[in-house]
Amino acid sequence: MERQSRHPPFVQRLLLVVVLLGASLASSADAPQRLVSLVPLGPVKQEYLERVAQEIQARVDVQVRIEPQRELPEEAFYKPRKRWRAERILDALDAQVPEGAWKVVGVTEAEISTTKGDILDWGIAGLGNIGGTSCVLSAFIYKKHSKTQEVLLRRLGDLAVHEFGHTLGFTHCEVEGCVMADAKGKAVKSADESSGQYCAQCLEKLSPEDRALIKPQP
Ligand SMILES: [Zn+2]
Ligand SMILES: [Zn+2]
Repeated sequence: MERQSRHPPFVQRLLLVVVLLGASLASSADAPQRLVSLVPLGPVKQEYLERVAQEIQARVDVQVRIEPQRELPEEAFYKPRKRWRAERILDALDAQVPEGAWKVVGVTEAEISTTKGDILDWGIAGLGNIGGTSCVLSAFIYKKHSKTQEVLLRRLGDLAVHEFGHTLGFTHCEVEGCVMADAKGKAVKSADESSGQYCAQCLEKLSPEDRALIKPQP
């Protein structure tokens, strides 16, 4: 799932200028590796966190740090369905970015949802702010529908690459097999049809600085 930035266009342009300025000041040769923070929200199996870290690092040249566990933000709880609103989780992650983190990936085993078109509360596997800082992944749907642990981990890994891609600025992509395909409400099917890779069309949208971070893909 994707979430448009809430900044009005002029703020986006301003941010872009600031980002470009920052990029031109940093020399790429000796720039320290960028940091991605994984934040467990509620109890999360260590192997889930490790798989998410591994899949992101296999595609992007970043350091991944697993942060101490946090509680799910109370204000995100949606009482009528007893699950958690993903966009509010993203706001809470944005409001408390771990020191030095470039991107933040929240990981939870709790059920999450958001508004999708006319549907007020729609269960989802993940949500990412497009070109933003934060995304959130839930293992809930995959735990329910995966026959083996390995299948679950593969799907969760694919989801991680997808939602992280939104934070890089990617929107949904039509190219067959691209990891940025729209799940169209079918998180399991979508993960199973994915190549797990960002396609060439997606990568073209990146700034040269960000494209340099993407590892060559098989
Ligand atoms: Zn998406
Ligand atoms: Zn693509």
